[in-house]
Amino acid sequence: TVRLRFAPSPTGHLHIGGARTALFNYLFTKKHGGTYILRIEDTDLTRNKENAEQGFMNGFRWQGLAWDEGVEVGGEYGPYTCMERLDVYQEYINKVVESGAAYPCYCTEAELEAEREAAIANNEVYKYSGKCRHLTADERAALDAEGRKKTIRLQVKPDRVYKWDDMIRDTIEFESNGIGDFVIVKSDGIPTYNFAVTVDDALMKITHVVRGEEHISNTPRQLMVYEAFGWEPPLFAHLPLILNETGKKLSKRDESIIQFIEQYEELGYLPEAVNNFLALLGWSPAGEQEIFTMDELIEQFSFDRVSKSGAIFDTNKLNWMNGQYIKAADLDRIVDLAIPHLQKAGYIGADFDRAWVAELVSLYKDGMLYVAEIAALSEMFFTEEVAYDEEAKAVLAEESAPAVLAAFRDKIAELEEYTADTIKGALKDVQKETGFKGAKLFMPTRVAATGQTHGRDLNVTLYLLGRDKVIARLNNIIE
Ligand code: GLU
Repeated sequence: TVRLRFAPSPTGHLHIGGARTALFNYLFTKKHGGTYILRIEDTDLTRNKENAEQGFMNGFRWQGLAWDEGVEVGGEYGPYTCMERLDVYQEYINKVVESGAAYPCYCTEAELEAEREAAIANNEVYKYSGKCRHLTADERAALDAEGRKKTIRLQVKPDRVYKWDDMIRDTIEFESNGIGDFVIVKSDGIPTYNFAVTVDDALMKITHVVRGEEHISNTPRQLMVYEAFGWEPPLFAHLPLILNETGKKLSKRDESIIQFIEQYEELGYLPEAVNNFLALLGWSPAGEQEIFTMDELIEQFSFDRVSKSGAIFDTNKLNWMNGQYIKAADLDRIVDLAIPHLQKAGYIGADFDRAWVAELVSLYKDGMLYVAEIAALSEMFFTEEVAYDEEAKAVLAEESAPAVLAAFRDKIAELEEYTADTIKGALKDVQKETGFKGAKLFMPTRVAATGQTHGRDLNVTLYLLGRDKVIARLNNIIE
């Protein structure tokens, strides 16, 4: 049975790229009835951010990507945080040093820099010279006695080809001669990513490693670590880059796209929509279908249909998709999501009439791209003064306006009950009384009451505004 893991480094917020990688890992695992694992790769102490791990977990929970094993939930192969596994790594570091597959390197930063500069001066691609390979036991002992800092490097075998059949990209190969002996343990004694990830993947019996294509050049190094221990490597899949709308590689500073999962959550995107959209970033289904439930994604997902080339992040498509999900969602759910936005805008307080808010939200639910839009869409319900733009003024200047508005005001003032139905009746009466119908009747009424030349169901809108507000706005125009 398959075992896959997502292994983020807790260096910031959950990025859409990480969320997609987690999703692809999850879909493949569930399709094959396997175990999905969440591991935290925190060996780069300088880049770790406080609360990042918690943020990741919140993000995955929001996405609905429950992990079967890993941080918080535990499991047979724990601990699942690298920095809690240092003693595990030590055992394997000792093994490779004893076997001679790895060796201590005492080169200082300055010495390494000099090597690098010499390579650049000769127009060569830099790789470590391997000079500490040849130190004798006595020389090592002397350097240790001096208190010299050391790293541990894996010895790269010459004239070898390291290759794998990538599940997305066919065969990828690297010549070992292009790769210098690389650091597997830093001078602070903490293993590097390439070492820790391999030990962890092997000990945790990971069968498939699915990650971003930025890791392709790490893979030959990891294959060397597998080889050093005589371990069978897993299968690898390297996912294509996510590109911005102009087809450029996304940088974290790119503001043309919202990049972090918690921002989508805050704006009122639905996780099903975000997952659906992310699934299509690189993967394409066999047919024309675009909207997929999680179960459908699990059933249809395969790496055969993941492309090698970058996937463009099309925000309009995401918004369209999210709109479809909002439209299909239960009203109550959207109301729950809308309330904080209405409160934040100061439109409703801590105490509010839920039934009224639900009617307001249902007025806009079809057509809303994300729930935060409710504040802008419904602003005119809450403002004291209505702003009339040129188009609105033109409507109010039409000849039918004065008669229609005065008649409508008088009719609703007399209504016993003020509901969408009685408002409808009042408008009919105004039509009979004034002889104006259709746009001549509805447009001035809508514009006077809302300031808008188009909007949602007029009767419901007028009802939700409330009689007093509507009369006050009509009077403002009439006077
Ligand atoms: N910690 C790595 C990252 O966040 C994971 C790479 C891998 O999956 O091997 O990119």
